[in-house]
Amino acid sequence: MSSSNVFIVLALFGLLSCQPRREPTPEPKQYSVPAEVEPYVKAFREVAQTYGQTVPADNLIITFGQPNRADACAQCTLAAGQTPRITIKMEDLCWKNASNAEREALVFHELGHCWLKRDHRNDRLPNGAYASLMNPDDVSVYAVCRYPIGEPVCDKRSRRPYYLDELFNPAAPTPTWAR
Ligand SMILES: [Zn+2]
Repeated sequence: MSSSNVFIVLALFGLLSCQPRREPTPEPKQYSVPAEVEPYVKAFREVAQTYGQTVPADNLIITFGQPNRADACAQCTLAAGQTPRITIKMEDLCWKNASNAEREALVFHELGHCWLKRDHRNDRLPNGAYASLMNPDDVSVYAVCRYPIGEPVCDKRSRRPYYLDELFNPAAPTPTWAR
């Protein structure tokens, strides 16, 4: 590196380090989860542990309410310095009348956003099933089907291990059931 290059690098560093920091004051850590949602959050923490992943388990607010998108069952809101917030729609098939597996999948999907910082993933496996629980349309990828009419494969419990693998490791190999 010539001396003029060194000067440019130093000048640039000087400029960057003079930028005023305007980050908002971080919210203190807080944890508030409805009792009926807590078992699924606890299950997520346990699964995360088996994958050796540390999640910010003491920083989360979950409330029942209306997500911004009218057709969504839940949403995760992330903002710098703020406690991650999940809003779950109580309505029939979203929560109230949902199976345990569907509730788990919904909570795991939102925690995928809020704690694992994952985005949506749209692609599909060779058999047409979604490649990820993080798909934006259907979180019942491993849920037991409650309406068997017109649905050839309703019991998808055996798919759960793959979807959990993929949640914590997006490079998880294609499972045998999807080939
Ligand atoms: Zn989502």
